[in-house]
Amino acid sequence: MYCKISGHDYKVSRDVRSYVKEYSCNNCKKELPTNSKGDLYRINTKI
Ligand SMILES: [Zn+2]
Repeated sequence: MYCKISGHDYKVSRDVRSYVKEYSCNNCKKELPTNSKGDLYRINTKI
């Protein structure tokens, strides 16, 4: 699967708050929560 090769292609799915965003993968629709700072918990962990 594409995500396993180059990682998930996260895009901002919506703005929950100005400082908290939600991300979802363009390919598999996996959602990625963010912390209170709006940072991704895990992204690009494997390069
Ligand atoms: Zn994905």
